[in-house]
Amino acid sequence: MSNPIRLVIFGRQGAGKGTQCVRLVERFGLAHISTGDMLRAAVAAETELGLRAKAVMDAGNLVGDEIMNGIVRERLAEDDANTAGFVLDGFPRTSAQAEALVQILGDRTLHGAVNLDVPIAEVTERMMARGREDDTPEAIARRLELYESETRPVLDWFDARDLLVTVDGLGTEAEITERLFAAVDARL
Ligand code: ADP
Repeated sequence: MSNPIRLVIFGRQGAGKGTQCVRLVERFGLAHISTGDMLRAAVAAETELGLRAKAVMDAGNLVGDEIMNGIVRERLAEDDANTAGFVLDGFPRTSAQAEALVQILGDRTLHGAVNLDVPIAEVTERMMARGREDDTPEAIARRLELYESETRPVLDWFDARDLLVTVDGLGTEAEITERLFAAVDARL
């Protein structure tokens, strides 16, 4: 059996991470671990976590590190993450989460972190166009601001460890998938 592949994907909100993660999952047989999807599922199911997270998410703010670290720790302990490997999407988003991830992974090393790069002006336009319920202009601006202040240092952290690959996120879906596969292949 082949070894599990462990990836992290970064990108501004609206960069197309969701679509490209589906392709990565198909191609490499990974578990897609999306903290945004997990939180939205908790909101829909009206669990205690969901009830607490909803207002934070609607405002475009970040759910607390402790909560997020716990969610990811549990998810990464599941069988599929260990056997198939994973692409972690939406985590780590802060330096405290990056530190927690290192601890959670222990001796399971990461193959790489991909930054799907789409400029702020372009993602803003896309988010306004998709009109998701939580995509108010204020929430969009807030998320992009937090991406720069909280997540940019995490990207730098991966870069300093030679784990970061930046993929140009402008182009057709197929072009971007091709670039992404090439970037991942180069890390394996
Ligand atoms: P977006 O819709 O902004 O691309 P996601 O779908 O990844 O982002 O996440 C939606 C919301 O869930 C975020 O705006 C944030 O409130 C919350 N969230 C997701 N992942 C995290 C995380 N790692 N830390 C804190 N909050 C998170």
